[in-house]
Amino acid sequence: MAAREWNPLDYDVEEGEEEEETPSPSALSSPLPYFDRDRHVAFLEMMYNLMPYHYQSQEINRLTLAFFTISGLHLLQALDRVDKERVADWVLSFQAHPRSKAELNNGQFYGFHGSRTSQLPPDENGVSAHNFGHLASTYCALAILKNVGFNLSTIDKESILISMRNLQQPDGSFMPVHIGAETDLRFVYCAAAICFMLEDWRGMDREKAKEYILNCQSYDGGFGLTPGLESHGGGTYCAVASLRLMGYIEDDLLSKNASSSVVNVPLLLDWCMQRQAADGGFQGRANKPSDTCYAFWIGAVLRILGGYKFIDKVALHRFLLTCQSEFGGFSKYPGTLPDIYHSYYGYTAFSLLEEPGLNPLCAELGMTDLAALGII
Ligand SMILES: [Zn+2]
Repeated sequence: MAAREWNPLDYDVEEGEEEEETPSPSALSSPLPYFDRDRHVAFLEMMYNLMPYHYQSQEINRLTLAFFTISGLHLLQALDRVDKERVADWVLSFQAHPRSKAELNNGQFYGFHGSRTSQLPPDENGVSAHNFGHLASTYCALAILKNVGFNLSTIDKESILISMRNLQQPDGSFMPVHIGAETDLRFVYCAAAICFMLEDWRGMDREKAKEYILNCQSYDGGFGLTPGLESHGGGTYCAVASLRLMGYIEDDLLSKNASSSVVNVPLLLDWCMQRQAADGGFQGRANKPSDTCYAFWIGAVLRILGGYKFIDKVALHRFLLTCQSEFGGFSKYPGTLPDIYHSYYGYTAFSLLEEPGLNPLCAELGMTDLAALGII
């Protein structure tokens, strides 16, 4: 079950298995020639008040959808639409707690459930037999709490961090849930972001995680989701952002002595730059159509490296506007319906482009600088 869960870093991984519908040229026109902030705020307010039924199948990832909505409103400088105290109480109600400290080493992960669906009630003896605490849900829970200004030093971080080590594998990668699932860079990133936000690295063996990440850099400079896989925009983001959060690479790496870096920076920069396609958008892999979300996944890597200045910003801006919906939100491809995932990464992309009216982005955490710094 958990293996098929969608999560914030599930950036179209399944794409490679299916033939994709290529957007038709006739769809390459936008009814709105500018970033329409007010419509986007209305779109997210709708999501905040009542999620449309199309998202029923993603109920298990309720916290992820909430993260996109609330962090999106923060990017749009509209956090006043959110009842911060109520949101914090709601998020905290998803945390799994052990019955005693002795349970922290029983192999389970005491993080956050993704939704009520996986939060089964205790049995007649008051014992919670089923714990589906998930790394991606935990990343989203902490990220939402930071967005609403909740003081993370007051939560039971001991349970999260000590039990999180149960998920790290001998090769340094992470499983997202203790019952078993795929291990790859997405969950290394979640673990690094969780430790960073909690300001405590007891949750992981950083050296092992670093070795795993470095093994994922491919011959062409990008990173695959696991060692040996094709370079991928999402995998590359998880690798570079994790190394940054763990302190293994500096910000604006290109202005420093890149040759002494733990990763091959010139090759990585070259791979990222080649992902900007002729239509101005970014693709996740070679020979794929441009897709809104990769303007963040690749753009954020370039921002961390100090190479964002090299992209064609005008062309990217133009492409993104062709994915902007007249109802607010962004779609994956031009001329298709918007969804909350691509809307959120559309907002982060416009923040990287320094669109007026948007809060600046903390590239490595994927949220506003203000939330990352705890200034709400
Ligand atoms: Zn996408």
